[in-house]
Amino acid sequence: ALTIGIVGLPNVGKSTMFNALTKNNVLAANYPFATIEPNVGVVPLPDPRLKVLAGVFGSERILPATVSFVDIAGIVRGASEGEGLGNKFLANIRESDAICQVIRAFNDDDVVHVDGKVSPASDIETINTELILADLQTLERAIPRLEKEVKGKKTDKAILDNALAAQKVLEAGDTLFARGEAAGVDLAAIKELFLLTTKPFLYVFNVDEDQLTDTELQSSLQELVAPADAIFLNAKLEMDLAELDEEEAAELLESVGVTEAGLEQLAHKGFHTLGLQTYLTAGPKESRAWTIRTGWTAPQAAGVIHTDFERGFIKAEVVSYDDLVATGSMQKAKEAGKVRIEGKDYVMNDGDVVEFRFNV
Ligand code: GDP
Repeated sequence: ALTIGIVGLPNVGKSTMFNALTKNNVLAANYPFATIEPNVGVVPLPDPRLKVLAGVFGSERILPATVSFVDIAGIVRGASEGEGLGNKFLANIRESDAICQVIRAFNDDDVVHVDGKVSPASDIETINTELILADLQTLERAIPRLEKEVKGKKTDKAILDNALAAQKVLEAGDTLFARGEAAGVDLAAIKELFLLTTKPFLYVFNVDEDQLTDTELQSSLQELVAPADAIFLNAKLEMDLAELDEEEAAELLESVGVTEAGLEQLAHKGFHTLGLQTYLTAGPKESRAWTIRTGWTAPQAAGVIHTDFERGFIKAEVVSYDDLVATGSMQKAKEAGKVRIEGKDYVMNDGDVVEFRFNV
């Protein structure tokens, strides 16, 4: 499964946020929800469409798509030097599909900041510097090897050229995710080097409660991290929300002037950052959202349900969620000509409600 690694300096609220992630009452009550390992939180992606579908089909249960978060402890200045926690830290990041940085913006004299002051910009720089240094080390080892291989015609020269171009970006202090493509680096060509800063980044700013509605502050923080996505939440508030039922949680959110809980935003943005989307299946047993990559075809999507479905794929009966709900039932959608028969080249759309036909 795809995972998002959570990183950040000490004392920024990572544990608080992660505890909220794994103890969320509202999500746990409405969705099947699990913690596989102590440092992994599987968070359901809230999807109001499933409730509606369950109504249309009389489904017994609802199964949402999920996003997995891994709590990666231990970033400190010097992590890239690979001592102690450093090594494990880098290995954990390497295994993640995206990087979620938690950054402290909240003010609290009782919570010590490792650098003595609250400064989101310099915290981001500290973390990015460690990741950039780790990538530079990887490249320092890889480039001489690639040079030899290119001479011996064992490796395509394009790989070496892109490795050198990536090195330039990193030496200028930029991550490959933020500036690689703009600098003309073909990130796909150097995939085999598993560089950390090519992973998609997502930022969580842990803000004071009254900053939750401070759009000016938020846009200045968003600017700091563009083109990455940013979320603004208060980790302590998320912890409180996690212990409430749905109605109480909604009331608490309203009282601080926010419409969507931070963790829900995190699940949505995380999904987007990973380049994922969902399609839906529905019947009397269950209404369910399935996770696929953007751009996948119908047989690939069928393969998520079962590998046999991909191999034996014949066709898909597809109706968009909106058309299905507008007509009121599958039967009526068919009568209205809204149900399409799609073949193996069909590219899935988010919100397609699908029934696959296949040979086994
Ligand atoms: P970690 O080291 O990044 O995992 O940070 P923790 O989650 O352990 O939090 C460090 C300290 O900051 C704890 O005392 C938390 O209670 C406190 N803390 C976490 N989030 C917030 C917040 O949003 N506001 C305030 N005022 N304190 C917070």
